[in-house]
Amino acid sequence: MPDRIFNFSPGPATLPQEVLAQAAKDIINYNNKGIGLIEMSHRSKDFIAITDETEANLRLLLSIPANYKVLFLQGGASTQFAMVPMNLLTSDKTACYLNTGVWSKKAIKEAKLFGNVDVAYSSESSVFDHVPQQGDYTVPAEAQYLYFVSNNTIYGTQYHSFPSHETLVCDMSSDILSTPIDISKFGIIFAGAQKNMGPAGCAVVIIRDDLLDRVPENIPTMFKYKTHADSGSMYNTPPCFAIHTIGLVLKWLKGLGGISVMDAMNQEKADLLYAAIDKTDFYKGHAKVSSRSRMNVTFNLPTPELEAKFITEATAIGLDGLKGHRSVGGVRASIYNAFPKQGIQQLVQYMDEFEKKNG
Ligand code: PMP
Repeated sequence: MPDRIFNFSPGPATLPQEVLAQAAKDIINYNNKGIGLIEMSHRSKDFIAITDETEANLRLLLSIPANYKVLFLQGGASTQFAMVPMNLLTSDKTACYLNTGVWSKKAIKEAKLFGNVDVAYSSESSVFDHVPQQGDYTVPAEAQYLYFVSNNTIYGTQYHSFPSHETLVCDMSSDILSTPIDISKFGIIFAGAQKNMGPAGCAVVIIRDDLLDRVPENIPTMFKYKTHADSGSMYNTPPCFAIHTIGLVLKWLKGLGGISVMDAMNQEKADLLYAAIDKTDFYKGHAKVSSRSRMNVTFNLPTPELEAKFITEATAIGLDGLKGHRSVGGVRASIYNAFPKQGIQQLVQYMDEFEKKNG
C-alpha cells in the first residue's frame, strides 16, 4: 500500500497531512502534559484554551463581526435542518427555501414539521444541474427567513453570488472557508466539519445574536441555539477531538495565508479539472457552467459501463473516492481546501490516458 492515496471523497474528506500527524500525537500526549487530548476534561483550562483559540482563529479567518456567536455543536449538519426552523419558524408563519438538491430537500422536510414552507425555486427537473440567480424566484414578503445551500455536494453546483434576505440562512457544509464571504449578510451559517474544517462529529454554527431572542421558550434545551450561545458551547460535553482538529486545520489555513490565498488555490485546482472536461466530448460536466462548483466536480462518461471502469482503474492507481453519489451516478471529484494540486494533475493525466484507450 502507498503511504498516502489521493482521496477524492466528498466527506469525511482529505485533511492536511501535518494536521493528521499533530492530531495523532495529541491524542496520545497533549502538549507533553502526560494526558491524551481525548481523555482531558472539557472543563479543564487546557481544553477551554483550545476552544477559545479555535473560535478566535475562525473569527479571524472569516472576519466574523462581534454581534455573531460561534457555536460548536453535535448532530452533524443534518440536526441543523431541524434546529433552524425549531428556533426561527413559528407555526402559523412561513419560511422560504431554495431547492437545489438532496440536502435542501431534507431541510425542507424538517421545516414542514414546524410551519409553512414556500419553495421559491427548484432545479429538480434538470437533476439539480444549476442554482438560481437572483431574479429567478420571489421570496414572500412574510418569510421569516430565506434558506439555501451554498454548495451542492452531490451535483457539483455552487452559488457564485448569494441570495439576500434580512434573515438569510445558509448550509455552507461543503464550501465554508473556501472563499472570502461577508458574514454580515447572513443570519445563520452552519456547516458540518467533515469537508473543509476537520473530522466528522461537529457542526459549526455562526449566528447573528438578535436571532437568539426570537427563539421560542418551549423547545428542548439542547435544540435551542441560546443554550449553547449562553454557555460557550459547553452546556454539555462538546465534541472535543473534532474541535481540537478544527483548531489545527484553522492554524494550517492561517499559516498558508488565509482564505484569499486558499481561494486562489481552489480556483487554480478547479480550473485544471474543468479544462480537462471541456477539451473533449468524452467527458461531460453535469453542472451548468455558470453554476459549477470549485469543491465537487461532477462529470459523466459516454456509458455507465465506462464510468464503472474509469472509477475501478482510478482506484487501482491511488485515485480514490471518485464514484458519484448513488442518486446521480457518474464521477465526482471532491477537491476541498486540503486536497493537493498534484492529485488533480494526476487525475487529469489519467483522464487523458483513459480516453485514449477507451474513447
Ligand atoms: N449539507 C450538505 C451540503 C452536505 O454535503 C452534507 C453531507 N454530505 C450534509 C448537509 C449533511 O451533513 P451531516 O452528515 O453532517 O449531517
